[in-house]
Amino acid sequence: MEYEYLFEVYPDEIQARLEAQERFARNLPSNVGETGLEFVIETLKRWDPGQKLTIAFNGGNAALHKKIADTATEWSRHCNLQFDFGFNQATGEFRRWSTNDSEFKADIRIGFDKPGFWSLVGTDSRNAAVVDAFEASMNFGGFLTGLPTAWAGTVLHEFGHALGFHHEHQHPVGGCDLDFRWEDSPGYIPSVDQFGQFIPDVNGNRPGIYTVLGGPPNRWPQWKVDHNLRQLRNSHAFMVSAFDPKSIMKYHFGDWMFRDGTSSHCFSQRNNVLSDKDKAGAAVAYPHDQNEMATIVEEKKVFLKTLVSGNKLQPEVQKSYEIRLESLEEI
Ligand SMILES: [Zn+2]
Repeated sequence: MEYEYLFEVYPDEIQARLEAQERFARNLPSNVGETGLEFVIETLKRWDPGQKLTIAFNGGNAALHKKIADTATEWSRHCNLQFDFGFNQATGEFRRWSTNDSEFKADIRIGFDKPGFWSLVGTDSRNAAVVDAFEASMNFGGFLTGLPTAWAGTVLHEFGHALGFHHEHQHPVGGCDLDFRWEDSPGYIPSVDQFGQFIPDVNGNRPGIYTVLGGPPNRWPQWKVDHNLRQLRNSHAFMVSAFDPKSIMKYHFGDWMFRDGTSSHCFSQRNNVLSDKDKAGAAVAYPHDQNEMATIVEEKKVFLKTLVSGNKLQPEVQKSYEIRLESLEEI
């Protein structure tokens, strides 16, 4: 059975570490040099332009791995990153990681055995304070028993997160907050279908987003709905272009979720391919231009040096920033 509104959610242990990171970051000095901390964190979540990202699989066969690799590679055609899936000509197999690993086998580690689809954002994928070497950084739950219809769009969406992109419907000035039907229609009588999912009542009154996502299969408390759907803070930390309803990073939402149904500017059919703005955004985040690359590298070096020299970081983060700084010195 495919649920219609099953959204991404991290496993509890990863979510707890992400929240610990956020709490920790809030206690750092709010300025790093001239720059806000949020900007620094977002910048450091991006991989380095020109970087070759290694990717490995745990579970699944080479035919499935090839489908995922061929699909995800579309991103790298539009920006200055390379994907290395570790394909071995001799064996016909792709790189694998395992739950016994004590060192990261790859920057992005794909698994299939957790519920749902999700990916860590950017360099969090190999941030030892967030995820262990023996854990997936990206998950395609259920892919081993059969590919869902929109699997290619799902792969592109999760790789978008892995490259550091956030949700388009949470665009800081996208305005989707005002379009969403957060609350039940007046007089709504809670009604569920055979799976326990909330549906319109006998009078045609409709449940709101909080009610639907609070029920099966998501069972999200209100804060989790807000975390996944509300607009991001309007901060210069996020590199944004104009709101793009065609973005692969925008969830498909049923028309019932919007006050104005299909005429809402945040409504779109399911997006299954990269939009023109997705491609342009990737090119800006990971440019080919030598001068732009040098600027990004310099900026990162300054941020890393400042953070490392402050000696206020968790040991794992301190170490990972030191390693990244060393690798940037070599560029
Ligand atoms: Zn997502």
